Amino acid sequence: MTMLRALSFDLDDTLWASLPVLQRAEQCFYDALCERVPEFVARVSKQELRDHRLGLLRAEPRLRHHISEWRRRSLTEMLRAHGYGARSEQISDEAFAMFIQARQQVELFAHVDTVLAQLSQRYTLVSLTNGNADFHQQDCSRYFHACLKAEDIGVSKPEPAAFAAALAAAGCAPEEMLHIGDHPRDDIEGAKAAGIRCLQACIVKGPETATPLADGVFSDWRQLPDLIEKLAGGR
Ligand SMILES: [Mg+2]
Repeated sequence: MTMLRALSFDLDDTLWASLPVLQRAEQCFYDALCERVPEFVARVSKQELRDHRLGLLRAEPRLRHHISEWRRRSLTEMLRAHGYGARSEQISDEAFAMFIQARQQVELFAHVDTVLAQLSQRYTLVSLTNGNADFHQQDCSRYFHACLKAEDIGVSKPEPAAFAAALAAAGCAPEEMLHIGDHPRDDIEGAKAAGIRCLQACIVKGPETATPLADGVFSDWRQLPDLIEKLAGGR
């Protein structure tokens, strides 16, 4: 029987709700532009900023794994196109700094800290996110052996290489790991394709949104230890 040795955790919408954080971060990004380049903001709409980002991604798909660079590059290019020349990169860096600072202001779901503390006594914990939150800034990251970000490892979920990086960090085989995340494709299908069992966090959207592929579903962190226990003995 294969023992469960490690748990990998998605972050956004698994440990905290991402929408309010991202909305706030977007606003801080925009405010930084209003302050620094009001004439640019008057000429370029939020939609145009978004459209440019999407166009850049189509031109350079690898930026999907480097979302911070993607955002900075897109803004720099737009500023250059609007005549900001050599200042473009600095303005872009400053606006991004405001975005990423706000990006860290997350509020953990209830019981996350307690449950992680408990699980870390027994399992090696690894975080695996496609987002650009700096998990090291959260107190509960102290329970984790490794914190992996797509933009650091150069590959994002659902690609098997992302899960392989988590396995390598935890030093275990796929059957010894359990992945916990909210996203049907990135977390659940991705983990399964990598031969890793998974639990789906349906905290934001509710358990009715669960995908049948998941080995279990939870909508409250207090349910997690028992669910893991059930899967811990073998497959
Ligand atoms: Mg997520």
